[in-house]
Amino acid sequence: SFQELEKILTQLDGRGYKAYKDLQGQYQWRDFTLSIDYVQGDPFASPSRIRVTVPGEKGGFPTELYDTPHKRRAVIDFLSRVVAKNIYRIYDHVGGSGKSGLLSIGHCGQEILERNYIVIDQNRVEARLEVGLPAAGRKILGREAKEIFLEAIPKIVEASLFFKAISKEGLFRQVNLVEDQYFLRQEMERYKLVAFVANGSILPRESGVSQKPMARGAVAFQSPKEYEIELHLPNYGYIKGMGIPEGVTLIVGGGFHGKSTLLQALELGIYDHIEGDGREYLVARENAVKIKAENGRRVEKVNISPFINNLPMGQDTVRFSTENASGSTSQAANIMEALEIGTDLLLIDEDTSATNFMIRDGRMQQLVQKEKEPITPFIDRVRSFYEEKGISTILVIGGSGDYFEVADHVIMMDEYRPKEVTLKAKEIIKGLQNPRKIEETSCLQESPPRTLLKATFPMEKRGIKIKPRGIHYITYNKTEIDLRDLEQLVDFNQTNSICFILQYIMEKPVKDQTALPEVVEKVYKDIMTKGLDEVSPFRGHPGNMALPRRYEIAGALNRFRNLKIK
Ligand code: ADP
Ligand code: MG
Repeated sequence: SFQELEKILTQLDGRGYKAYKDLQGQYQWRDFTLSIDYVQGDPFASPSRIRVTVPGEKGGFPTELYDTPHKRRAVIDFLSRVVAKNIYRIYDHVGGSGKSGLLSIGHCGQEILERNYIVIDQNRVEARLEVGLPAAGRKILGREAKEIFLEAIPKIVEASLFFKAISKEGLFRQVNLVEDQYFLRQEMERYKLVAFVANGSILPRESGVSQKPMARGAVAFQSPKEYEIELHLPNYGYIKGMGIPEGVTLIVGGGFHGKSTLLQALELGIYDHIEGDGREYLVARENAVKIKAENGRRVEKVNISPFINNLPMGQDTVRFSTENASGSTSQAANIMEALEIGTDLLLIDEDTSATNFMIRDGRMQQLVQKEKEPITPFIDRVRSFYEEKGISTILVIGGSGDYFEVADHVIMMDEYRPKEVTLKAKEIIKGLQNPRKIEETSCLQESPPRTLLKATFPMEKRGIKIKPRGIHYITYNKTEIDLRDLEQLVDFNQTNSICFILQYIMEKPVKDQTALPEVVEKVYKDIMTKGLDEVSPFRGHPGNMALPRRYEIAGALNRFRNLKIK
């Protein structure tokens, strides 16, 4: 009970930090149970992990609120934010050395992701928290610890995990919002659209380092009449906006007119967004992939032959490997890896592409003969991707009209407003002779399967530590995995989950006959049926996790410098 906890904390006061280990266990409070699952070894180590659990009937959340996976995701995300707000409001941060006094729940940004910071079902409402157990130097500060456990936490639980205590309107609005976004993504397929941007959406962000909406001066999105459609959402009702059809779509326009901003918004249209974000009714196919050039990345036995052939020294491009890819080979590898996991939509921006991968104009074709050029530019493949594989492309391009010929739709950004210019572009083609020749008409061949080998994870004497460093890096013992170019990774706890998943893959002995996408699919299935906690290495508080997509999991594997493929 809590009296017990109080007694232990009194006894611990002034002792060495290690004595905190005595706290491990469960304590009963009037309305909830506190579980101290893991106690940090010193004040500078990762914080201690605790859970607070309210019995389901006391929590009083109606089951209809979370009777589908996406509604449950909405509720969990909402309650995580409520807990975070209440920690901020109620808890007066106590000081001390290292992480002393820290009290937090997993971080939530602009996206409503699948998270494990809260558990809600008929039996319980549970929040998973992290605590920096307070110390001065390495001496336990018992009084400060009491403040956290006996004062702050009960108040935070009281204000957050009971249906009667929280803002019902806020919760319902978030559940409705997620339901609408979920519906909208399903409608995409029915209407053969790859993206939808509601009129009134706010696309630009506050700054390069903040995903909050631009506060002042943002021009709200307005669809051109030609692309405007009206949909009926279950909660919002009728909504109008721009539907981008399947096929090849160019976004053209002068510099600074908002092309990249539109594409970046579409990239994150794979996720649901919170109220007030400005992108609440902006969605893209959930398997859309941003493709960039990524100089220097490693590539392991990827079929880049649709784009690159006849390399000097007779290098194999059907099973192409390199420790240090060029702009064009990395971009080709990124596309082929996206295909391997499965995608309906490629998103490409000229700003982050290799020029020689994107275009090769008529004059250059005359000077450098096809036989001397290993690269088949994307322009000569983009149609076969759509026609043979059903993969659409949205391409930001301000610098080459050659693409008019391969586009189904051309949209021009003009002072942040999209305009339909397809007919104009097609007339220009008719009027001007272009000396450019199409270089490639052959069909896309199936790529050979890429089998993940056990040797990817060699045994090491001291064991293997896989850890996230911010959103963009993972360290695997001494090897670093660079995820900076996986632009659709948005949350540190997605990266944390990828670390757990890599460990999970490593520990469930990989049989040397499973293709990489199947390995990813298998973990994904385990998560879908048993929940995120399933792939955590920890019992009790599993660590903060947010769900990454299959593509980002495979993306981490593909960038792992130790990856071995048969
Ligand atoms: P482009 O790719 O066409 O060169 P960007 O998308 O990079 O242009 O946008 C240029 C600038 O305009 C950016 O600073 C961006 O924040 C701002 N911007 C983009 N869209 C809007 C908008 N709808 N309203 C206000 N500012 C915008
Ligand atoms: Mg740009």
